Amino acid sequence: MALTDEQIERYSRHIILKEVGAKGQKKLLNAKVLIIGAGGLGAPAAMYLGAAGVGTIGIVDADEVDLSNLQRQIIHGTADIGKAKVKSAKETINAMNPDVTVKTYRQFVTSENIMDLIADYDFIIDGTDNFPAKFLINDVMAKKPFSHAGIIRFKGQLMTYVPGEGPCYRCVFKNPPPKDAVPTCKQAGVIGAMGGVIGSLQAMEAIKYIIGKGDLLTGRLLTYDALKMEFHTIKLPKDHHCAICGDNPTIHELIDYEQ
Ligand code: ZN
Repeated sequence: MALTDEQIERYSRHIILKEVGAKGQKKLLNAKVLIIGAGGLGAPAAMYLGAAGVGTIGIVDADEVDLSNLQRQIIHGTADIGKAKVKSAKETINAMNPDVTVKTYRQFVTSENIMDLIADYDFIIDGTDNFPAKFLINDVMAKKPFSHAGIIRFKGQLMTYVPGEGPCYRCVFKNPPPKDAVPTCKQAGVIGAMGGVIGSLQAMEAIKYIIGKGDLLTGRLLTYDALKMEFHTIKLPKDHHCAICGDNPTIHELIDYEQ
C-alpha cells in the first residue's frame, strides 16, 4: 500500500533517512508492538512509537492514573487522574497520530494470560516495575523479541533479547531477588527523566528491530548513571546452563513469582 500525501509529510524526517525510507516507514506502519506497563518506561516508549507511526500498539496495564504518577508518566495528564492508564494512554496516542491503532488490555500479566497477550505482536517492550513480571516476560519469550529495562533513583539499565541471538534476561539475572531485597521506585524514588531516557531507548530498539537496521542491544547490557552522566555497555555471555534458553532447560512452565 502506498503512503498517502499526509503520511509522506508526517513521516518526512524518517523517510529522508536512507536507513528508513518509504520502505522502512511502511514496515513501521505494519508493525505491532506490545508495551507491558503504561508507567515511567511505557509512557515515553508508547509516545515515541505512536509518533513514529507504529501501526498497532498494544498497552497492558491494570492500574489507574494516580497523582504521584505524573512526575514521570508523561502520557497521562492531571485530568486523567482516576482514569484507567490504558485508556489515558490510548487517548494521548490517538490525539497525536490517527495512523495508530491502540489496543488496550486492562490487566496484570500472569502466567495465564501472557501467551494470549503477546501472540499477535512483533516486539515486546517490558515497561514493568516488578521482578515477577520481568521474569514472566522473559520466560515466555522463547519466540518473541523484547526490550528489558529497569530504572531506579538516578540509574537505568537496558537489554534486548532476540530469539536465537545472545543471552536472555534469565541468563543474566538467574532468579528474582528475594521479596523486598530490592527497593521499588515507590520506596527509593526515581528521577522522572530517567524513564524518558530509558523508555525512549526501548522505543529506539523496537524501531531498529522493525526496520531491520543497526545493532540491537543483544548480548549487551547498557547501564546509565545520571549522576556521573555515564553510559556503559557490558558484554553478556549466553549461559549454557540457563534454566530457560540453556542446553538443558529446567523450567518448562511459566512461574508466577510472589511479589
Ligand atoms: Zn537464558
